[in-house]
Order: sequence, then C-alpha cells, then structure tokens
Amino acid sequence: MFDKILIANRGEIALRILRAAKELGIATVAVHSTADADAMHVRLADESVCIGPPAARESYLNIPSIIAACEITGADAVHPGYGFLSENARFAEVLAHHNIGFIGPKAEHIRTMGDKIEAKRTALSLGIPCVPGSEGGIDDIDAAKRVAAEIGYPVLVKAASGGGGRGMKVARTEADLEQAVVLARTEAKAAFGDDAVYLEKYLEKPRHIEVQILGDGRGDAVHLAERDCSLQRRHQKVWEEGGSPALNEAMRAEIGGICSAAMKKLGYRGAGTIEFLYEDGRFYFIEMNTRIQVEHPVTEMITGIDLVNEQIRVAAGSDLSVSQDEIRVEGHAIECRINAEHPATFRPSPGQITYYHPPGGLGVRVDSAAFQGYRIPPNYDSLIGKLIVHGRTRNECLMRLRRALDEFVIDGVDTTLPLFRTLVRNADVQNGAYDIHWLEGFLEAGGLAT
Ligand code: ADP
Repeated sequence: MFDKILIANRGEIALRILRAAKELGIATVAVHSTADADAMHVRLADESVCIGPPAARESYLNIPSIIAACEITGADAVHPGYGFLSENARFAEVLAHHNIGFIGPKAEHIRTMGDKIEAKRTALSLGIPCVPGSEGGIDDIDAAKRVAAEIGYPVLVKAASGGGGRGMKVARTEADLEQAVVLARTEAKAAFGDDAVYLEKYLEKPRHIEVQILGDGRGDAVHLAERDCSLQRRHQKVWEEGGSPALNEAMRAEIGGICSAAMKKLGYRGAGTIEFLYEDGRFYFIEMNTRIQVEHPVTEMITGIDLVNEQIRVAAGSDLSVSQDEIRVEGHAIECRINAEHPATFRPSPGQITYYHPPGGLGVRVDSAAFQGYRIPPNYDSLIGKLIVHGRTRNECLMRLRRALDEFVIDGVDTTLPLFRTLVRNADVQNGAYDIHWLEGFLEAGGLAT
C-alpha cells in the first residue's frame, strides 16, 4: 500500500480523497494555488505545497510543479480527482517515469477513451452497443453528407476531443449540415486544439444512463449499477440519481454485465464510467470517463462501497474488495450539484459565504469544501457542494431531499439551491418522467418563475 498520497486537485473532491486516504491510514499532501491558500483541503491535509498562481494552467495543470511537490514531500502516489489532469495520459506517464504511482487507469486506456472516435471503435470491438454514426472522423462535407443520408437526419456533429458538452452541433437537414460541421470544427479547435469531428445519429428524446465500473487491471472487473443523469443544462449534469427510474433489475443486470465483461477483456484498472443514451429500450454508448466522477456518491449511497478506497487499492496492486455477487443495490439516491451561480441566469457568483448551514439527519450526505467565511475564488468552476440523499424508495428519497434542501442555508453568494427546491416539487421530476431535453424546456418555459 502507498505511504503518502498527493492530491492533485482542490475543492470537494480533494476532501473526498483525503477522507479515503485517512481511513486507509495513508498520509496526505495537498497542493494549492495562491488563491486557495486558506482552502479546506489545505487545512485538512497532513502537509501542503503551494504550486503556483491562481490560473489553473500555472498551478493545478502544471505537471513539473506537481512532480516537484511529490519529490519534496516524498509522496509515492498521486490522486488526480476529476477535471484538471485526471484524464491526461502524459501526466500518468511522467509520474511512472518518476516512480510515482498514478491512482487511475493505465495511460493507454486514458488515451484510447480520451479520443471519442477511438473510444467508439474500442467499445464496438468489446461488444458495447453504440449510437449509429460515422466509422471514423469526417474529412470532408461530401463524406459527411453520405454518412448522414445513411443514418438519417437529424444528425449530431461531435468533436473527437470533446468534453463538457462543447463542440456539438445538430443538423436537422442536409442544408444545415455544412454549417454544423464548420461550427463544430471551429468550436473544437478553440476549446481542445483539435478540429477532428465525427457524426452520430441525433437521438430526440433519450435519457442519459451511465454504468459505474471498477477493474483491478489484471482481468477482474465489476459493475456497480447505473446512474441516471438526464436532468442536464447545456449538456452538463445538474441532478443525478440511481438507479434509473427507467430501468428494472433485469435491464440493469444486462447492461451492467455487458460493461463489466468489456472491462475484463480490456484489463481496465480503477474506477470508470461507461456513458449511454437510452431510448425506446435500447442503450447507445457515447463515451467512457476514465476517472472518478462528480456524481460517484450516488453509487456509494446505494451500494455502500467506497469508490475512492477501491481506486487506491487497485492502483497499489491489491484486488478489488468486492465481487459481483456481493454488490447489492439498496434503496435510491439523488445528488444535486449546488453551484455558486444565479439560479435563473446561471451567472457565476464568486465571493464570500457569510453564513453556512448544511442539512443533516438520516440518509443525508453533503460533500463540500465550503464553510462560513470561505471566499469562493473566481478562477475555478462554480461547484461549491453536492447534496446527496438516500432513501429506501425513490419516494422516500424525494421527501428527504425536499426537507434537506429546505434546511440548507448558504448566504453571501447566489446558489442553485432554489432551482433544486423547485425541481423536487415538480410532477415530472417526481414521476421520473424526463429525458435529456426536459430541463432546458422547463427553464425556457420560465419554470423557475412559477
Ligand atoms: P461531453 O464529453 O462533451 O460531455 P458526451 O458525448 O458525453 O459529451 O455527451 C454529452 C451530452 O450530450 C449527453 O449526455 C447528451 O445529453 C448529449 N448527446 C451526446 N450525444 C448525443 C446524441 N447522439 N444524440 C442526442 N444527444 C446527445
């Protein structure tokens, strides 16, 4: 096992990793930018190192500074969290070169899944069902027209290096296609420095359902059921729950089994998420995330398994602590992403939290690095905490969520708490009757005002 882990991240996920390390008796090192000198992850770690100025590319994305911090503190492994360097294959390789463990998958798997064209090709070869689309990238508009005519309109032009919902454009007819390709390419080039795009059938009313998997890197892998992340704004998840209101036990076992078999074949190591769109009873792979995800607590609440603990174990060469037949789904869990943003305009609202009172009680978990007096810096994403609630049934979970949201007080900055207080009382949400477009439609119709 590792003796000392450096956490190359900040905010709530840095705290989450600290907690897992402490339970394993592993010493912790926090790294931070000058903007985060007073942050909670710095206060709770055994040691801390300042790695640069506020701009992420000079601190949390600065590989030489992070390697230097490992060497100064004698850390023997790095946990990258999510975002920042978590899906950077070169970072994993540089760490290996310095004999420092990477708590994540093998570099080759990060690289394969990081290129969405390559990821789809791999998924198909592993027996995972995919969205119909171009076999590889789209080189010219004539090729795009041919593929689109084959799969049928509407189609979606997507960036090979895409992430965060960027570089995606819908074309409803052949007349729209050329512009959609040009726009997607331009956006992808600006955001990712890579203008490769591909085509997919655009699904009109799918749900987003993803399967959590864990692998030991030596051919053993398990699935830990699914999360439904259909409530999205601008292709970004807002509310996540597990299990999906759309699946039953048999469907879960079937798609989970396909995913764990694929990961066994791949020899995948660590935690990963295989993302699907689900429409009319069929699953379509869209991408795989080779890291711990923001919404992982949903899975932890319904299975009781500590996913970060498992990540650390397998990175250190141990076996998974559970086998498939020991994994049971108990009850239902929902996560709300609380952002420091205006609840209607979604404009970021950095600044000082003047009063902070998180909810508590049975089945309530708050993963947050916020505290009273904390000043949210303007330099990073606006997630300030996650409220995760568990109940024996989905209805119990919804009732508990409603009262937990009403208890939660964050003053001094705008937050998305009012949005969730509205959503939890909405009939469609209560009935689980939503697809990936539902929330946008609800907001456009002025749903928050009523
Ligand atoms: P990113 O990596 O940018 O998050 P994804 O491929 O994971 O991109 O897709 C993000 C979201 O975009 C999905 O959850 C879904 O809402 C939407 N989306 C992606 N592919 C399709 C598709 N073929 N049809 C309809 N919606 C899609």
